[in-house]
Amino acid sequence: MKHSPNSPILLSSSLHVDEARKAISDLVKELIEDAAKIESLDNIEIVSLDQAINRILAEDLLSPIDVPAADNSAMDGYAFNGACLGNSEELVSLKVVGTAYAGKPYQGKVDTGTCLKIMTGALMPDGCDTVIPQELTHSQDDKFIEFKQSLLKLGENRRLRGEDLQKGKAAIQSGRLLRPSDLGLAASLGVSTLNVHRKLRVAILSSGDELRNLGQALDVGCIYDSNRYSLTGLLNRLNLEIVDCGIVRDDPASLKEAFCNAAKVADVLISSGGVSVGEADFTKQIMQELGDVGFWKIAMRPGRPMAFGTLKPVAGQSSARRTLFFGLPGNPVAVMVTFYQFVRAALLQLNGATETEPPLIQAVSSAAIRKKAGRTEFQRAILGRGTDGKPVVELTGSQGAGILRSMSQANCFVILHHDQGNIAPGDWVDVALFDGLL
Ligand code: AMP
Ligand code: MG
Repeated sequence: MKHSPNSPILLSSSLHVDEARKAISDLVKELIEDAAKIESLDNIEIVSLDQAINRILAEDLLSPIDVPAADNSAMDGYAFNGACLGNSEELVSLKVVGTAYAGKPYQGKVDTGTCLKIMTGALMPDGCDTVIPQELTHSQDDKFIEFKQSLLKLGENRRLRGEDLQKGKAAIQSGRLLRPSDLGLAASLGVSTLNVHRKLRVAILSSGDELRNLGQALDVGCIYDSNRYSLTGLLNRLNLEIVDCGIVRDDPASLKEAFCNAAKVADVLISSGGVSVGEADFTKQIMQELGDVGFWKIAMRPGRPMAFGTLKPVAGQSSARRTLFFGLPGNPVAVMVTFYQFVRAALLQLNGATETEPPLIQAVSSAAIRKKAGRTEFQRAILGRGTDGKPVVELTGSQGAGILRSMSQANCFVILHHDQGNIAPGDWVDVALFDGLL
């Protein structure tokens, strides 16, 4: 439905985005509790590190070793016994007795008055507790080094065994959405597999008589279905299993059948289209039979109408769980905004992740932005850097909910919160980067 963006009547009857998020999160909690009752441990999978990116860790990863496994040098320099150090400007002179390399330790002992040339990561030899970086020393012939006593303190530049992580302690906490650094960390501990939650199965469908599949001829008034492709991209970012249920016509029997088929196989169903005021009554009727779904008017732009709830278990479904349902608006940008604002966090939460909210940063708005208090707005923008070095955002032209090009050109949303009003050039605004998310 089209409505004046400034209409106070429509806004006053709307749900605050925070209320919507709270309602979603509460329902997801319920579904997790239900699942704990009806499903057993087969919800956990063991995957190799090369398959683990963007999966969610199901148990704390306990370190099987101390890290580092032994005391070693943090610098290229000379290892020695720090008892000779003090506060004076006096010179220390040490005889160099050999060299230790990473992976090739020095076998002998290093006595008082002597030192060992040592590379970063090489084991600290017996008798040594301190490393002087090479650049702080003087040497005539590589056989002796000299440096001022006061340049460093006993124990400096030595990494202690277990300093980063002790054996038996959690290296990565359960609930972590695994990132490249986590995979590297697991590998550094000698761990080759991780216990992760099974992939959520998410069904997607597009509803609308005007929609055509790629490759089909476009009849008059018809458009290509783009939402399933944006949604597939969004879901792939989360390494989920996608069940593509295609395009469904705007007739009750087809919709009902498609929803039932999706519920049979999927944990979550995401549809787009058919929830705006003009079409909602028809969808509502079907949802009353199939589940418990609310039709929301959310105080946001774009993405005002949205249906949310659960579908009842259907005959022939493998487990007795309910299916989480998001009926997103049909407008292509609204689909991405509502996914970002509501669906992403719900999917992560349902799949056991502890951190579900992407970070916001702040940037200076290069221009004035008109904004009515009483709704949350998502404007597409490009984040760059101003001449003074500060982060600056500039909107990407027309912000209509159907204009995907402005989304494609953008690298971030400017998020204008519920109570915020007009923005003046130079004001700081909240920004959500697309990178990795959208
Ligand atoms: P609706 O929410 O069904 O009223 O759709 C709102 C607008 O989004 C209409 O202009 C639809 O044609 C368009 N739309 C709906 N679904 C899709 C889709 N899957 N791909 C592209 N545009 C869509
Ligand atoms: Mg429609």
